[in-house]
Amino acid sequence: MSILPKKNQLGFFEIRLESIGGLGANLAGKMLAEAGVLGLGLNGSNFSSYGSEKKGSPVKSFIRFCDADVEIRDHSPIEQPHVIGVFHEALYKTVDVVSGLSADGIVLVNSTRNFDDIKNDLNIKYGTVAIVDALGIAVEEKTKVNTAMLGALFRICDFLDPEAMKSVIRKTFEKKYPHLVEPNIRTFERGFNEVQFKHFETPANANGKAFSRPQPVLGYETQTMGGVLTSQGNSILKDLSGSRQGFLPEFDQEQCINCAACDNVCPDFCFVWEEGEDKRGRKQMFLKGIDYQYCKGCLKCVEACPTTALKDLRETIGYADAHRVKQNFPYVAGGIS
Ligand code: SF4
Ligand code: SF4
Repeated sequence: MSILPKKNQLGFFEIRLESIGGLGANLAGKMLAEAGVLGLGLNGSNFSSYGSEKKGSPVKSFIRFCDADVEIRDHSPIEQPHVIGVFHEALYKTVDVVSGLSADGIVLVNSTRNFDDIKNDLNIKYGTVAIVDALGIAVEEKTKVNTAMLGALFRICDFLDPEAMKSVIRKTFEKKYPHLVEPNIRTFERGFNEVQFKHFETPANANGKAFSRPQPVLGYETQTMGGVLTSQGNSILKDLSGSRQGFLPEFDQEQCINCAACDNVCPDFCFVWEEGEDKRGRKQMFLKGIDYQYCKGCLKCVEACPTTALKDLRETIGYADAHRVKQNFPYVAGGIS
C-alpha cells in the first residue's frame, strides 16, 4: 500500500519551494528528496531553478515523490503542487508563489503574521495555510532559515521520518562543525513543533489556483528602443527589497551626528542627504533617511555607525515602504517615483 497521502494523474506527490538565493531552499529540497528516497525507498527527484546565482534572486526547488514501482519520466518544473513552501514574504511582490496550488493543497509560509492576512496576500480562497516563524527560530538558534522550514515541511509531509532527518543533520555537521549539530537539531525540531495550521473549507467542486507561466516583463517584442532596463540590479529602477533576509537598518535622526560613516560603507547608495545649515549658519549636509528600495539589508551601515542612530530591525511587511526616503537622482527629471 502506498504511503503517499495524495497523487496526481502520473502518480506523483509534488512539492514546490519558493525562495530567494541565500536562504537555502535548494539544499532543503535536496534533503527532503533524500529523506523520501533513501529513507523510505520511494522513487523521487529534485532539482532547482534559479537565474544568476546570487543572494536575492528568486529560486524554485522542485521535489517529486512516487511509489517505488512508478517510473519518473516527467522532469518538468512542478506546476500543480500539493505543497508549497514560501521562504520569504518579499516574493509576493514579484512572484505568484501559489500559482497552480491544488484545491486541497497546503501552503507553508515563513512569517510572523496571522492566517487571514496571509490568505489575503496570497489571494487564496480555500485550502490549508501553515505558518512558521522560521527566521525567528533561526535567529534565536543562530542557524539557518532552511532547517526550520524543513522541520515544518516534515510535519506537513507526515509520511517522512523526522528521526531520519535528524541523523542526516548529525552526519552533515558532526565531523567539521560539531558545535552546529545541536542548534540545527533544535531548529529542525522547533520548525516541526511550532508550525501552525488553519484550514479554509474547500467546496466540493473547487478548482485549484490556475497556473500562470511567468513571462519576461520586457522581451524582444516589448522592449522600447533605447529603453531603460528595469530588471533588478541593472538600473536606477532596481529594487533590492527581495534581497533582504529579514532585517533592515532602522534610522533615528535624533541620534545622528551626520558623520557619513554609514554612507561610506553602503554598497548601494541608500542614504539620502539634504543641504542645510549648522548652528552657526554654515552649510552642511544632513542625513534625511534611507531609500529602502535599494537596501539589500547587509547591515554594514549599522556596524559602521558610531552612535545609536542606526540599529538592525526585524523587517515587518510595509515598514520599508512607510519609512522610505526617496533618493532624488539629479539625472532623472523629478527623481524616481
Ligand atoms: S543595510 Fe545599510 S549598508 Fe547595507 S544596503 Fe542597506 S543601507 Fe546600505
Ligand atoms: S553613521 Fe550613524 S551617525 Fe553617522 S551619518 Fe550615518 S546614521 Fe548618522
